[in-house]
Amino acid sequence: MSRRISILGATGSVGSATLDLISRAEPGTFDIVALTAHTNVAALAEISRAWHPQIAVIGDESLAGELSDALSGTGIETAGGPDALIEAASRPVDYTMAAIVGSAGLRPAAAALQSGSILALANKECLVCAGDYFMELANQRGARILPVDSEHNAIFQAIYPGHEKYIRRIILTASGGPFRDWPAEKMAGVSRADALAHPVWSMGDKISIDSATLMNKGLEVIEACRLFQLPPGMVDIVVHRQSVIHGLVEYIDGSILAQLGSPDMRIPIASTLAWPERMETPSAPLDLAALARLDFEAPDEARFPALRIAREALLAGEGATSCLNAANEVAVGAFLAGRIGFLDISGIVSGCLDAMDRKSMLPKRFAGIDDALDIDRLARDFVTQRMTGIPA
Ligand code: NAD
Ligand code: MG
Repeated sequence: MSRRISILGATGSVGSATLDLISRAEPGTFDIVALTAHTNVAALAEISRAWHPQIAVIGDESLAGELSDALSGTGIETAGGPDALIEAASRPVDYTMAAIVGSAGLRPAAAALQSGSILALANKECLVCAGDYFMELANQRGARILPVDSEHNAIFQAIYPGHEKYIRRIILTASGGPFRDWPAEKMAGVSRADALAHPVWSMGDKISIDSATLMNKGLEVIEACRLFQLPPGMVDIVVHRQSVIHGLVEYIDGSILAQLGSPDMRIPIASTLAWPERMETPSAPLDLAALARLDFEAPDEARFPALRIAREALLAGEGATSCLNAANEVAVGAFLAGRIGFLDISGIVSGCLDAMDRKSMLPKRFAGIDDALDIDRLARDFVTQRMTGIPA
């Protein structure tokens, strides 16, 4: 019987890798129900013609007519706008890939979980902004959240079933990003192209910049604490430049279990697509002898202050992590648009956190997803206003 699946953010890096895997599976293994994208009508129309979902949704409502024209005569339903994304995500499926970038992915991912689908979670913002809500919702619905983020997927695989209570700590690996060997003096002059040139992974623009500031690793520590229900002191980071070990679990007896694999997102994605079974991927097998060595080093928090800022936000609670995420999204957007410098990103994020904390606007816990999205909006407004003096 085929597995019904929806892909939210189907035109992005993770969405495309998911479709690539599906294209290699036996015909009839998967039946695609919904495909969504934000603004790229041509790309969404192309994959929709190839995969013939029940419905294709464009997030930007003003493009709904264009999408409908592009798919006319195909029999594929089309729609546009945030509510349409939620409606499509609520359609009954066995598996949903949540691969929208940013806090825009929260409501559609929650709708999928609410409908009882397995949630393959690439969108780490769901847990960073509203982790308690997502974990409780999954519990209530008896639905599974399967982590797609490579480090969390590795840890998920390395947790021996039933041995959660014996975990001493988990370790997330970090490639160190493109500036791992740059001296501090040189980092003020980082260009957009420098920051997008990740040494190992090929990813969307936003997460590539986060990997350059190491904010991505900070967000991942928050994601890991919420997903695996661990206190912050039990989640460590180690820089591992080969990006072959993705995550490690240390148990109380001193054993460490790790997951290794080529740095190819199709491996973690496949592990969720086939879960609880396994499927083949076209990923290059690891040649350990050719690799010869695995290097590890401590992260440099002086050159990468985002790590400390994210850990402080985690200790402060969900209001702070939601604020951190929103301020960072706006700052990264401004850097990509050439409006601010690379080193301004973490300064803007910590400035926003301090200001909102001083006004007691950051609750320790949220009652629901609306609270998380309120803080998200307030933090975006704050950062946008702060930056209005900066010439475009
Ligand atoms: P991407 O930018 O390549 O793709 C994002 C997708 O989301 C696109 O389909 C886009 O159309 C859609 N989208 C963007 N804004 C939207 C909005 N406002 N409303 C509706 N749809 C919108 O991003 P990506 O690199 O594929 O990352 C997706 C998510 O997965 C992110 O949360 C990222 O942190 C996470 N992730 C990605 C990787 C990776 O290797 N790329 C690895 C781990 C985690
Ligand atoms: Mg990751």
